[in-house]
Amino acid sequence: MLDEKITKELRKIVGDKNYLDTSEDLMNYSYDAFVPEARPEAVLLPLTTEQVSDIMKVAHREEIPVTPRGAGTNISGGSVPMRGGVVLAFTRMNRILEIKKEDRLAVVQPGVINAELQAEVEKRSLFYPPDPASMSVCTMGGNVAENAGGPRGVKYGVTRDYILGLTVVLPEGQIIRVGGRTAKNVTGIDLVGFFTGSEGTLGIITEITCKLLPKPEANQTMQAIFHDLDLAGKTVAKIMEEGMLPVALELMDSVVINLVEDSAHIGLPREAEGVLLIMMDGPQESVKLQVENIAQLCRDQGAAEVRIAKTPEEENALWFARRSAFGVMARSRPNCIVEDVTVPVSKVPTMVREIVAIARKYELVIGVLAHAGDGNMHPLLLTDEREKDEWERTQNAIRDIVLKAAELGGTLSGEHGIGMAKNQFLDLVMDKETRRFMGKIKKAVDPKRILNPGKFV
Ligand SMILES: Cc1cc2nc3c(=O)[nH]c(=O)nc-3n(C[C@H](O)[C@H](O)[C@H](O)COP(=O)(O)OP(=O)(O)OC[C@H]3O[C@@H](n4cnc5c(N)ncnc54)[C@H](O)[C@@H]3O)c2cc1C
Repeated sequence: MLDEKITKELRKIVGDKNYLDTSEDLMNYSYDAFVPEARPEAVLLPLTTEQVSDIMKVAHREEIPVTPRGAGTNISGGSVPMRGGVVLAFTRMNRILEIKKEDRLAVVQPGVINAELQAEVEKRSLFYPPDPASMSVCTMGGNVAENAGGPRGVKYGVTRDYILGLTVVLPEGQIIRVGGRTAKNVTGIDLVGFFTGSEGTLGIITEITCKLLPKPEANQTMQAIFHDLDLAGKTVAKIMEEGMLPVALELMDSVVINLVEDSAHIGLPREAEGVLLIMMDGPQESVKLQVENIAQLCRDQGAAEVRIAKTPEEENALWFARRSAFGVMARSRPNCIVEDVTVPVSKVPTMVREIVAIARKYELVIGVLAHAGDGNMHPLLLTDEREKDEWERTQNAIRDIVLKAAELGGTLSGEHGIGMAKNQFLDLVMDKETRRFMGKIKKAVDPKRILNPGKFV
């Protein structure tokens, strides 16, 4: 427990209403979507950058571990307070501070929900592309810390591509402002990139300036149904090879399709081995042409059927299946492990085949879900941690998946980060010198190692 003097000091900084320490509160903030549990000694809900700075000065002086937290939706254990101490939760720093149409930017506090920002900018015919499937709950601070991606990443990239500037509180309490409000900025080292994706281990993000785009005039989604999963994988690579540029190009296999259909009854093709979900956007006329071209390519590649959404309701139904897939899978067994390996797009068909073979080898149920257009695979391993043999086979399967991705020129994580979940596999894809270099950076920035300790650096 924090001693009385420190408790009093921290309470004074945030106010009694924003200091939580009942047993129930501590349990609520002890896990995230990765689930493992470690309780903090207190949860602080700061309201300003200055409060965060004052908290960090106390934490640094007293060597108290600090774990930043947005909505706790990350799947890598990044916001689990492994070493106790305090959780800094940003749910009350949730204001959109500015939307400036001429400069195509927005300034937000870290607790703003991604979907709320999207809705606000769209009212002004603007567009914030990063769209993690968790966008209705996850926060902008969490998105920056994880460099989150989403289906629209194929055409529009990931969070890092939309961050112009950040206000960051360093582990010793100093407040710095990195980047700025301009689209171009090479003044000094790219510190926006440095903090983006650092998973709360180097600094605490308290304000975000993000780039916006004009909202595309139109978009349309289609579903291509394959009776052969291999053909679906090959079609992904072919679409990219042909120079087409879908907004999103998602893949689901029969395990995912059937479990989602069992739960949602939305008419998914149960007989399909693989389904591609493809979205195009742009000016109305161009979208029409792109959809025709891509539908024809899918048929030429062997699609048994191509369904094109004609109304917003049909479009929503197609995306509902994709967005609800993880939740449905997670409910179907005691444990659902989502891997995040990413391979060059030309290797997607091989990686899909390998995942199926690994499932067979270890006699496991593994669903294949993928942001396939950017090579980001999410094999979902359905398992039960309490069954020793099954759990061991699961660990071996994960190791095989990671090794295969690395062998194909890929990497361990495309968007979920390392946190505590993937630490054990980092050495499979990263050499010792690179890890040592990351360690040196951590030591220089956070000499007492109080910020999000126990994670990958
Ligand atoms: C159903 C589901 C679907 C998902 N789909 C996607 C997807 O499509 N794409 C994707 O990329 N991810 C996805 N995720 C993972 C997750 O939603 C993202 O990683 C998201 O960015 C986490 O945001 P959060 O607000 O929940 O952050 P948290 O989970 O609370 O925190 C994430 C990390 O950021 C750190 N952090 C949080 N706030 C700050 C801050 N202000 N300053 C510094 N560090 C901070 C935390 O310490 C932690 O390390 C999904 C998760 C679920 C459960």
